[in-house]
Amino acid sequence: MTPAATAPEGASGGALTGDAVRLPNAAGLHARPAAMLVALAKKYQSAIRLLRGADEVNAKSVVSIMSLGTQHGDLLRVQATGADAAEAIAAISALLLQGCGEAHEAARTSATLTTEPVPAVATAAHALSGVCAAPGLAVGRVVQFRQDVIVVAETGESAERERSKLDAALTLAQQQIAALKLGLADAAGAAILQAHQELLQDPDLLELAVAGVLQCQSAGQAWRVAFMQYAQRLEGLEGAHNALLRERGSDIRDVGRRVLALLAGVTPAQIDLPQGAILIAEELTPSDTASLDRSKLLGFCTTSGGATSHVAILARSFGIPALCGVDPAALALAQGTLVVLDGAQGLLHHRPSPADIDQAHQRMAQQAARREQDAALAQDAAVTTDGQRIEVVANVRNASEAREAVALGGEGVGLLRSEFLFDERDTAPSEDEQAAAYIAVAQALGPQRTLVIRTLDVGGDKPLPYLPLPKEDNPFLGLRGVRVSLDQPAMFRTQLRAILRASGQARLHIMFPMIATLEELRAAKALLAAEVAATGQRDVKVGIMIEVPSAALLAEQFAREADFFSIGSNDLTQYTLAMDRGHPKLAKQADGLHPAVLKMIALSCEGAARHGKWVGVCGSLASDAMAVPVLIGLGVSELSVSVPAIPAIKALLRRLSLAECQGLAQEVIQFGTTAQVRARLAAFAD
Ligand code: PEP
Ligand code: MG
Repeated sequence: MTPAATAPEGASGGALTGDAVRLPNAAGLHARPAAMLVALAKKYQSAIRLLRGADEVNAKSVVSIMSLGTQHGDLLRVQATGADAAEAIAAISALLLQGCGEAHEAARTSATLTTEPVPAVATAAHALSGVCAAPGLAVGRVVQFRQDVIVVAETGESAERERSKLDAALTLAQQQIAALKLGLADAAGAAILQAHQELLQDPDLLELAVAGVLQCQSAGQAWRVAFMQYAQRLEGLEGAHNALLRERGSDIRDVGRRVLALLAGVTPAQIDLPQGAILIAEELTPSDTASLDRSKLLGFCTTSGGATSHVAILARSFGIPALCGVDPAALALAQGTLVVLDGAQGLLHHRPSPADIDQAHQRMAQQAARREQDAALAQDAAVTTDGQRIEVVANVRNASEAREAVALGGEGVGLLRSEFLFDERDTAPSEDEQAAAYIAVAQALGPQRTLVIRTLDVGGDKPLPYLPLPKEDNPFLGLRGVRVSLDQPAMFRTQLRAILRASGQARLHIMFPMIATLEELRAAKALLAAEVAATGQRDVKVGIMIEVPSAALLAEQFAREADFFSIGSNDLTQYTLAMDRGHPKLAKQADGLHPAVLKMIALSCEGAARHGKWVGVCGSLASDAMAVPVLIGLGVSELSVSVPAIPAIKALLRRLSLAECQGLAQEVIQFGTTAQVRARLAAFAD
């Protein structure tokens, strides 16, 4: 018998009631099945109730359904009042019978993400996998990143005003979750976020919050009271069988906090770390990561992001292992759990045996000895066995990193990411402020060393709070990089003037990011020429980043008008392969060693050589030991690497023969897949 076929039992006060359905879900109607049921119920106009014996709840409220505390085997009925009552009852009863989206076997083992550590550590190999964001090995203790208490005013302005604030925050929260969902790799995680979205539309929860607003509470206070009350209702359910529902209380707190933070306009908290921490978080913004106490942090893992995301770049600049797109079960590891993080292998071992830990320590000691040897020779030039000098410079954000780079043997700065000056503030930095920062970096290097200052590179994944960029469907393909500067000429000219003020202090180079067309280069150069004329500073070289296939394809034409190229392999990979650099599902494929990307680099080098111009690489490929032989073999003569990588990359270059690397490069660009390239490069390295 299927409930869809059963007729409603009869009318009581206009309501129709369906046949009883025995609940197949082992964990009852927790967040996800409840969300699915609610999603279906909302398709009907009728008022719909879910009945269990004498208990009844609104079937359009996830919170109410969860608070019913249903269990496997409960007898439930659907009751509806309205024009489409019969259809609603048939459809919802059928859904209930099918387990509301949970296969019965899966339901028995509870497929939800739980905040308990047990399911996470129950995975077969005791290792959670992710994508290598930064290599290295660390043994440390888990620190889960959670947010701080959010403070809101108790009373509000007018009920109307508070209500509209609440609505706006709810809408924004919906958008945030929708965006998060898009970036999520696993279906289970997406389903949980779906449940969060449902919670935000929960009529009973909203009704309670609005009631608070009507009683003169501020939107924040009313919302907090409402979601806490619901969370507590679930958390107060007794009995072992309600364990999962009690945990769902934390889902409500989670989504509740998101809205609350929006209402309070709070900025993310600083992350306080104990010594020896391995930080685990869903997501870390570049500013979160940048503010971490590096002396205490041994490594980190995020469930979002990919190998070329900015958070990964920061990890490499810290010189600590990091994984992106790690299995979300990592979020459930208990605080203080001893783990071994293996960046190169992309693994987080969460139940290491004493032997595993010994072995990790041995490997770390070998790596440290190697680093020491490399550091001892760090100040020597990097010259291949057949006499080719390669310049090894650094990617930095400020003067202190530039000093660190020089101390480690860096021969200059190949990429000053000027956007870090523009970040985390309410207004753009003034010319004086910028000039002071650029001059400080230049002075850290001195007149003999190269300083390549990249002009503002924002947009796409790097928004600025005070720069009103339009909402775009495809921000990576929209106003990003030099396009933003050309769109905001006053801001651009201020930056150019500030950069020119550093001339003479170092060998100054200006570089434009994300150039796609000659017109863009010409427009940027015209603005620069105007500032050069006004300031009289002339000794500056002008180059472009090659990040877009069109620039690589027309490298010869660009080389006529630019003094140098620097390959932004992170973006060049994303745009050549049409794979978002931060996409966790694509992270493993978005590989800079794909032969198509290597061909783009080959074209860039050929085009530059025709006009006697030099080519550098400043994307993460330059810091990748496996990629270095092929890069120099293709004709790259400058590698701009993360600061900690300088000594090792120099040491590696001294072991290579340029002639052999050229042969290798010609071989691998004939291949069709990244796997072939990597296999050949691994054999070469042996
Ligand atoms: C790149 O794209 O490779 C690059 C160096 O620029 P960013 O990573 O800052 O976009
Ligand atoms: Mg880039």
